[in-house]
Amino acid sequence: MEDTAKHQGLRNQLVSILKQKGITDKSVLEAIKKIPRHLFLQSGFQGHAYEDKAFPIKAGQTISQPYTVAFQSQLLEVKKDHKILEIGTGSGYQTAVLCTMGAKVFSIERQKELFKEAANLFPKINIRPKHLSFGDGYKGLPSYAPFDSIIVTAGAPFIPQPLMAQLKVGGRLVIPLGEEVQIMTLLIRVNDTQFEKHEFGEFRFVPLLENKN
Ligand code: SAH
Repeated sequence: MEDTAKHQGLRNQLVSILKQKGITDKSVLEAIKKIPRHLFLQSGFQGHAYEDKAFPIKAGQTISQPYTVAFQSQLLEVKKDHKILEIGTGSGYQTAVLCTMGAKVFSIERQKELFKEAANLFPKINIRPKHLSFGDGYKGLPSYAPFDSIIVTAGAPFIPQPLMAQLKVGGRLVIPLGEEVQIMTLLIRVNDTQFEKHEFGEFRFVPLLENKN
């Protein structure tokens, strides 16, 4: 679990790149500056951890590109102690960013292997999500709802209704929508029945898969 001055230097460079690409939220940039992304990667890719790229992780999944993590995190407008639901723990990197921003993070992953690895890694690097769940993110986590915001980190063919239902009024749901290519979508819950929708351009994610634990 080594994190060296060299890693820190590479992280500072990554943060500069993210600023150049338009990320302005200071708490997002601070978190990225702190988190040892190389520890979320398989050994063969660790040398590339601070490039602004996605990489393969186990179970045929990917760790999202830092820009994508930063972009989604910024859209959430995280405040300290916000209760956030994440769908797709994956490597745990996005979870760690949100925890470091001061959020209480609840995260769901449907691949057992990834669920276990992330759960193992967090305590070693002092990251403390509120709750990690193994299961189907389409259903959300009704017993812990409502959430201040919800982030989906896989490409969804549609917006799962349970996730909308589990959002507080005023809350934000950030979800990449689409099959081949996804449009980053932000839903803001205006009141009990109404949601405001904003779209933010194209991204590419692995698919959000249903009911295959
Ligand atoms: N935030 C992660 C992204 C991983 S890729 C990271 O940066 O590492 C998306 C993740 O969503 C994968 O791990 C995949 O297994 C998971 N996933 C896909 N469908 C899911 C579902 N229905 N419920 C929960 N997790 C799901």
